[in-house]
Amino acid sequence: MKYISNLHTHTTYCDGKNTIEENILYAIEKNFISLGFSGHSYLQFDNSSMSIENTIKYFEDIKKFKEIYKDKIQIYSGIEADYYSNINANLDYRIGSVHFIKDDNNNYFPIDASKQNFENTLKHFGNIKEVILRYYNNVIDMINNQKPDIIGHLDLIRKYNFNKEYFTEEEDWYIEKINEVIEAIKNSNSIVEINTRKMNKDNLNAHYPSTYTIKKLLKLNIHITINTDAHSANALDYFYYEMAEKLKTLGCTKIKMLIDNSFKDISLN
Ligand SMILES: [Zn+2]
Ligand SMILES: [Zn+2]
Repeated sequence: MKYISNLHTHTTYCDGKNTIEENILYAIEKNFISLGFSGHSYLQFDNSSMSIENTIKYFEDIKKFKEIYKDKIQIYSGIEADYYSNINANLDYRIGSVHFIKDDNNNYFPIDASKQNFENTLKHFGNIKEVILRYYNNVIDMINNQKPDIIGHLDLIRKYNFNKEYFTEEEDWYIEKINEVIEAIKNSNSIVEINTRKMNKDNLNAHYPSTYTIKKLLKLNIHITINTDAHSANALDYFYYEMAEKLKTLGCTKIKMLIDNSFKDISLN
């Protein structure tokens, strides 16, 4: 691969462990061509998101370090916009992500905060199918109406199900719903990230979206990119090359990268 780049990066302004500068220094050391920051957009009911005050500092900091390191790396200013956030900022790009579902009384329930939280969400809605359908309906609405540049962890609802503890992905209703999501993506300009955060050497399939969905996306020529969803600087290239290799075995030849201020096709070879 000629280049490496990551646009899904969290810092100490939200739930990441390292500062903006520490992330930039690691990326330079690893020869990244570009690096984008995607702090969690402010959400009143989510304390891992950036406060309004921190959001302002976050953008100032990115601007400052972008200038300082401009001869060494391209830095981009983005955000991971939760589906329930109102975003009003001047961004280089936006990652759209669903982290919550809502019940009919406007109560919000996290789907990825912790296993215990996930179980509470299940208990509240009564069954897994209801939770999954609400999750994907949010994803579809986000794609159609918020038009993110990048769709974050498309099937995050699988987070606690990598060992198939709660559902199988082979049932007709699940496949139908995934197809509905893919149809919405097909009709959009969004790029789907292949998110490597949950991968490990014992489970190279623990990525979002699933291999099944990646294959479908590739068949339809939907644009994809690789993101690590890094919450620490040394995770910026976490399973990046392994994923690039896997994509090649699935017949993928190129991915999108933000270079020179636009998304370009970069060969995986
Ligand atoms: Zn997320
Ligand atoms: Zn994230």
